[in-house]
Amino acid sequence: MVVILKENPDPKQLENLTRWLKSQDLVIHSSNGIHQTVLGLVGDTSRIDIDLIKALDIVEDVVRIQDPFKSANRKFHPLDTVVEVGPARIGGGNFALIAGPCSIESEEQICSIAEAVKKSGAAILRGGVFKPRTSPYAFQGLRAEGIKLLLEAKKATGLPVVTEIMDISQLDLFGEIDMIQVGARNMQNFELLKQLGKSDKPVLLKRGFASTIKELLMSAEYILAGGNHRVILCERGIRTFETATRNTLDLAAVPVLHNLSHLPVVVDPSHATGVAKLVEPMTMAAVAAGCDGVMIEVHNDPAHALCDGPQSILPENFDAIARRSLILREALKK
Ligand code: PEP
Ligand code: MN
Repeated sequence: MVVILKENPDPKQLENLTRWLKSQDLVIHSSNGIHQTVLGLVGDTSRIDIDLIKALDIVEDVVRIQDPFKSANRKFHPLDTVVEVGPARIGGGNFALIAGPCSIESEEQICSIAEAVKKSGAAILRGGVFKPRTSPYAFQGLRAEGIKLLLEAKKATGLPVVTEIMDISQLDLFGEIDMIQVGARNMQNFELLKQLGKSDKPVLLKRGFASTIKELLMSAEYILAGGNHRVILCERGIRTFETATRNTLDLAAVPVLHNLSHLPVVVDPSHATGVAKLVEPMTMAAVAAGCDGVMIEVHNDPAHALCDGPQSILPENFDAIARRSLILREALKK
């Protein structure tokens, strides 16, 4: 339920209203726009008499949110959410490039890629250490050792870092990690999402490859409902009948998500296409669609990468993409 207040509400009456709502066991999320303040109410609102609240002098309107996602809903929080990841900001007009290898392979590899992508303007460094591989015989990631190497690259460059969690038992290793990634395969691991709802770290939630936009938002709702409001959504391609690309990039998901939700939306053109040559055009398309950030896999030697080499681009190609996406963003402002 949301309570839309009139402009410049009387502070005393507002205090009385919020005190009463809290006494009804509701949690209030206030969204303060320039002209309008919206109170988003979380909890059991079924006992609340809408007409009673509507009759108050300071209240413009009261609306029940019909969609099953409440806290993620744009109606609940009309302003864009801005998520801070270390010094980086994503959402509400803030754009960030996230770049790095699919998997961390060695200190030299992650540190050299980190330096290169930082120079090109990446705001966040990625690097997988717990890898969800289709084959149990494929490289599974450097795990705890990989976290150490990622933190070394963070120290050397000052870049905030993101890496994927596959099981809640790994959470203790994420103390100095700036953002936790939930991969496509775990988007509906509800127990994991509930635990991340209790964390205060930003969560990069990737869309499952057979999940609808509504299901993605319901998964985000799990994290928000636990009290963690630092959620970034990531479109990374869905499985269709098309085989020319690894997945099909659902670009319409960007404006659809922006309409439905206040959460930032990032696009991953690397996993969406699976083809290094397609990363640049799809990055440009994602920027044009209005995304709040792009996550790109960058490797210094894609031919010998232990994971996802065919979709990984060289640092110099990332440099060109970073430059061009900036130019495109500027052009779109005109
Ligand atoms: C990844 O980002 O390394 C990854 C495994 O992505 P996804 O979960 O989208 O497949
Ligand atoms: Mn990958």
